[in-house]
Amino acid sequence: MIYCEKCLGIVCCDLYAKVTIKMRKYDFIIIGGGPAGAVFAKNLDEKYTSCMIYTETQKPCGGLLSEDAQKYFADRNIDLPKEISADSRISCVDTIDIHQNLLRKYRRYYLNVDRLKFDEWLRRFVPEKTEKIRGKATKISKTDGGVEVTVVSGGEEITVAGKYLIGADGGDSTVRKSIFPDKKIRRYVSIQQLFKLNSAVPNYACIFDEKSTECCAWIIKKGDYMLFGGAFAAKNCRESFERLKERVENYGIHLGEPITTEACMLARPKNTGQIFLGEGNVFLAGEAAGFVSPSSFEGISRAMYSAEALAKAFNTKNPLKYYKKYTAYLRFVIFLKLLKCPFMYSPFLRKAVMKSGITAVEE
Ligand SMILES: Cc1cc2nc3c(=O)[nH]c(=O)nc-3n(C[C@H](O)[C@H](O)[C@H](O)COP(=O)(O)OP(=O)(O)OC[C@H]3O[C@@H](n4cnc5c(N)ncnc54)[C@H](O)[C@@H]3O)c2cc1C
Repeated sequence: MIYCEKCLGIVCCDLYAKVTIKMRKYDFIIIGGGPAGAVFAKNLDEKYTSCMIYTETQKPCGGLLSEDAQKYFADRNIDLPKEISADSRISCVDTIDIHQNLLRKYRRYYLNVDRLKFDEWLRRFVPEKTEKIRGKATKISKTDGGVEVTVVSGGEEITVAGKYLIGADGGDSTVRKSIFPDKKIRRYVSIQQLFKLNSAVPNYACIFDEKSTECCAWIIKKGDYMLFGGAFAAKNCRESFERLKERVENYGIHLGEPITTEACMLARPKNTGQIFLGEGNVFLAGEAAGFVSPSSFEGISRAMYSAEALAKAFNTKNPLKYYKKYTAYLRFVIFLKLLKCPFMYSPFLRKAVMKSGITAVEE
């Protein structure tokens, strides 16, 4: 407790009251204000009350909207505003294998957006009646009637109670780890740096280098800047990242001094069994559930489709059953991506594919 010297009370005046405990009750508590959280809140039937807890910090991301993500908006007749754009449309990915000294271009269509602005724009679709709490959920517990979540927001500690909890809290989901600790999913550490553009770089390059990572890295041009990032096994991830930067420089791509560095965990399902939708009154959506491509790490479209499916499932008598049903196609696509992985990530098969020129752009 905090003792206030000014009015000799406990937590009694604005100046000294740093901690107040409030209890609010909702049908749904949504943790996460990324694509999954925002789309779930938007699509939830208006008969329910809900609150969305989210941090407003920049989520480390390449900010590339895949064709699936573009289709999501097109099918719903939603135009993407100009202000979220970060660079011109991408129509090609330069695939570089540093260790094997191979380069190929492949046709891919992406919209290049500013991820922070994209998330802020998506949250504008969240209905007014959904209470928004900006802060970090620090404690989650199950109760007889549902769940309780403690949030630290603007120096206050708020406890909210809900009948259902939606974990839309991304690849390092606190909901998944605290409520379903045995539902493990393969994770990598993703590190990304922003650089001032000082030489010509591809709009988008996907980089493989078996000496630095079993995953991949990327360069994405963002106006006068570029992002350089990659995914690494947790052990010695920072060293692996620095080694990769050095090898990229030696390859001829000049990075320079980083302006910012960001890092986060990235979920990468090893099999479709690692996709977990939830149980009882706790559900997972988006990357928290494991809806992310294990080959390209594309997760924005999957977050939106899965969250919409979950909201729709609450219009039925058996939400979990219908959530499973509505996401069967998403799981099937992830299964296909898993089949594709060896051709991208096994150096031997990648070399065969790149040398063959199959599906590559003629040069
Ligand atoms: C470096 C990197 C680059 C990527 N590039 C791309 C790309 O170019 N295109 C693409 O499609 N996908 C990309 N992905 C994947 C994509 O970012 C995710 O799969 C997608 O954002 C998942 O959406 P989500 O809503 O499930 O989770 P997130 O977008 O991660 O959103 C979760 C939100 O919950 C909040 N949160 C988490 N914990 C708490 C808590 N305890 N309390 C309150 N709030 C919390 C976070 O702050 C975050 O805003 C990339 C991933 C990484 C790591």
